[in-house]
Amino acid sequence: MSVTAQARMAAASTSAVTTAAAATAEPLIACENLVRIYQTADVEVQALQGLDLHVAAGTMVAIVGASGSGKSTLLGILSGLDAPTAGAARVGSWDLVSMSASDRLAYRRSSVGFVWQQTARNLVPYLSAQRNVELPMGLNGARSRVRADRARDLLASLGLADKAGRRPGELSGGEQQRVAIGVALANEPAVVFADEPTGELDTATGDEVFAAFRRVNAERGTTVVIVTHDAAVSDQVQRTVAIRDGRTSSEVLRSTSVDEFGEAQVTAREFAVLDRAGRLQLPAGYRQALGLEKRVRLELESDHVGVWPEDDGAQAGGER
Ligand code: ADP
Ligand code: MG
Repeated sequence: MSVTAQARMAAASTSAVTTAAAATAEPLIACENLVRIYQTADVEVQALQGLDLHVAAGTMVAIVGASGSGKSTLLGILSGLDAPTAGAARVGSWDLVSMSASDRLAYRRSSVGFVWQQTARNLVPYLSAQRNVELPMGLNGARSRVRADRARDLLASLGLADKAGRRPGELSGGEQQRVAIGVALANEPAVVFADEPTGELDTATGDEVFAAFRRVNAERGTTVVIVTHDAAVSDQVQRTVAIRDGRTSSEVLRSTSVDEFGEAQVTAREFAVLDRAGRLQLPAGYRQALGLEKRVRLELESDHVGVWPEDDGAQAGGER
């Protein structure tokens, strides 16, 4: 029965993302059954428990989930800072599990950019915005003229042309995060990862920073993976992936179409994520509404799978 459900889900999700042309191509980011166990003195924490995630090139994905659900752990692995305990993780042609230390460094310098929540972690405090953006290019061997021109262009495109000479301490939190986006983009990475980049900002400023990420995605085609706990923010992207207990649990896909009056209409559809073993998570609201717990009865229909409470009348034939 999982085959039918999977096929249907695949068909449904393809229809919902017709705006993302890359959806059918090989994903840029592929995580399969990712496990990360932290060993501390006396306890073992399973931060990721078999997480699957595929992201198509050129898309922007928001990752949401309660505190402690494993979002930062996932981003740490994807950005090459941390290695998984088990499972597979690939970004482009880079295998994040088996890559050597020198590959890891090259990957971090040239293929990906990062923006962290703590504004101070993103920028060097004693360098101007211009110098901060030039810094990663210098590490990559770019010539000073190229660095200067490119940093100026990047800052201008982020609305910071007149702030290039200021140090982080002379910029607002939102401006600092936009400079950080410039730093992340300095070496023209395929992907930018951002871990709650608006978490320390007020709503209006956070919206501005988020808008900058959206422009980067739309205008440069950079793939953006952004962790946020802000539902209003995640409503603005094509795809929102929810992580729960170290696994991807559900996804919302949004597509935009133009209606008969020429108005853009956004359609949002929610999907449960089915893993390779056929597991899926029923939303808490559904479980409560029908009193579903411990065991449920499944039935394969021609075009869907039914789920019933265990003691649902006489025909509960699925007892095990
Ligand atoms: P999120 O970013 O979604 O809040 P994290 O990925 O930071 O979640 O954490 C997931 C789980 O792993 C949490 O239970 C957290 O306490 C634990 N954890 C994270 N980092 C470490 C670490 N370095 N050592 C031990 N446990 C950790
Ligand atoms: Mg976190």
